[in-house]
Amino acid sequence: MKMMYSRLMDIYNRLLAHFGPRHWWPADTPFEMIVGAILTQNVSWRSASAAIANIKDAGLLSVDGLLASGEEELAALLRPARFHLQKARKLQAFCKVIAEEFRGDLGAFLSQNIHTLRPRLLQIYGIGPETADAIILYAAEKPIFVIDAYTHRIFNRLGYFGEKAKYREMQDFFMKHLPPDVPLYNEYHAQIDALGHNICFKSRPRCEECPVFDLCKAKYRQK
Ligand code: SF4
Repeated sequence: MKMMYSRLMDIYNRLLAHFGPRHWWPADTPFEMIVGAILTQNVSWRSASAAIANIKDAGLLSVDGLLASGEEELAALLRPARFHLQKARKLQAFCKVIAEEFRGDLGAFLSQNIHTLRPRLLQIYGIGPETADAIILYAAEKPIFVIDAYTHRIFNRLGYFGEKAKYREMQDFFMKHLPPDVPLYNEYHAQIDALGHNICFKSRPRCEECPVFDLCKAKYRQK
């Protein structure tokens, strides 16, 4: 157990030294973070942030604002984030829960313990495990390790997970070997994202620049 902790912290410290602190999540408020987590599904952060800017410019970045706008009006603002009609419905479904069950009080919703909050998030249209866990970690600031495609790809290549590893299996692995520490989980996920986004590409990863090259089972020798 201790040995795995040391290995995971070695990877983390190398990534942190290479990329520097990532200052996640890039949002001014918990509500903006949640909107961003839904909008960034299946698209780049750049696309999601263009849609957030549109919502802000329209003065709609609030539970009441998003619920007051028509679905098509909202979808038009979300166009840069693609799947815009679907994402308009997802945002409004989330806002409806806050408005109807928590009288619009997002803080009260987020203050629930993880064991209540996570299942409730997963019942909301459009919120899957990755989005739910990002909301729990970055908006509610509670310790849960977020898994995404980069985590699977990188830790598969490093030799920790199989090709078919399931979300829960990967999450349990990190949470078994790392202490429940919100700042650590926050930064670790952000560092994995930096490696996946900048170096460990799906095809033709830039292994010669990788800070964990010597630990990797699947490193690709560059020609
Ligand atoms: S050495 Fe290459 S394949 Fe391995 S983690 Fe680094 S970039 Fe990815």
